Amino acid sequence: MHCPRCKKLMTTRSAGETELDSCLECGGMFLDRGELNTVAEPTAGDLEYSTLHDESFEHDDEFGPIACPRCGVGPMGKVEFNIYTGIILDHCAACHGFWMDGPELKRIDVEVRRLNDEASDGPGPVMLWFANFIWSLPR
Ligand SMILES: [Zn+2]
Ligand SMILES: [Zn+2]
Repeated sequence: MHCPRCKKLMTTRSAGETELDSCLECGGMFLDRGELNTVAEPTAGDLEYSTLHDESFEHDDEFGPIACPRCGVGPMGKVEFNIYTGIILDHCAACHGFWMDGPELKRIDVEVRRLNDEASDGPGPVMLWFANFIWSLPR
């Protein structure tokens, strides 16, 4: 697979039981369907489901449109990770994979850690609101 940003050949690296295609040049990563839940910090919710649920696929981001590096279909849709995080990922309507640009994984980890911390402090108002979306969803 080639990086849709740098056009360089990407390397496969394993994260637990998952094989991820990542670009050493820009840090971008392609996630097959279901893999978003395995790369982020472990959480009780289904992040992929809550990311795609009610999604408009029309967000703006600083990285611009790309075609899917897996199947070549493009442009990929722009989806907001989870809800109201400002982290915009690319999503392929054909193979349902995600493209994550270099800085985005760190931002996702920070966000999920924040959600988990709030959950362990007992549910605050924001948490209860999030919970409606995440913690009660079918897995
Ligand atoms: Zn790259
Ligand atoms: Zn695709």
